Amino acid sequence: MTSYEESYLDKRPQSLCKMCGKCCRFVTIPQTYEEIQKLASEGHEGAKDFLKLFEPYESIEDARKIDAAAVDNVIRLHKQDGKYNENLKFYHCRFIREDNLCGNYENRPVLCNHFPSTPWAIVPPECGFEGWLFWKREEIKQKVRKEKEELIELKLLKQKTHDKDTIAKIELVEQKLQRNIDMYKKYGSEDW
Ligand code: SF4
Ligand code: SF4
Repeated sequence: MTSYEESYLDKRPQSLCKMCGKCCRFVTIPQTYEEIQKLASEGHEGAKDFLKLFEPYESIEDARKIDAAAVDNVIRLHKQDGKYNENLKFYHCRFIREDNLCGNYENRPVLCNHFPSTPWAIVPPECGFEGWLFWKREEIKQKVRKEKEELIELKLLKQKTHDKDTIAKIELVEQKLQRNIDMYKKYGSEDW
């Protein structure tokens, strides 16, 4: 069976990529630089791979000198409760070339090949995928809204029956729908 990621990647129109190289130049991660270094020193493969590829900018200002709009966009998206995330660090790949092509193309990691790997991926302003990702997010939101409506209908249906088998069947469908909705919880599906 094709996984969600495989089918998403199959449908992603690669021709939308403008080959601007910005996604290789302004990378951020949830961990601090010290945390990722510690993980790498403890043998964490993902952290080791990350540091083999990416080098941190000395400061946010240094990253802004390359492309202020791309950096400010990430900072805006990482603001929580209006507060600036002080641990935010920007990295650039050691292999990105002046002409924006990958100097490590044959051996680039899967994560490069898969970018942007979800409709919620943070892409730089004017990335060729911006509009397409927006529509993909809208499609998912619409699907989730429909599932919420179905849950309401099932609840009403359950109130009308006393048949245990029917109730059990309804509850199975309810659970399945709820699982689908919860899959997008981290993207805010409770509020859609
Ligand atoms: S930022 Fe977007 S358009 Fe530019 S290289 Fe990356 S994926 Fe392609
Ligand atoms: S390995 Fe290539 S594709 Fe991956 S981040 Fe570096 S330059 Fe970009």
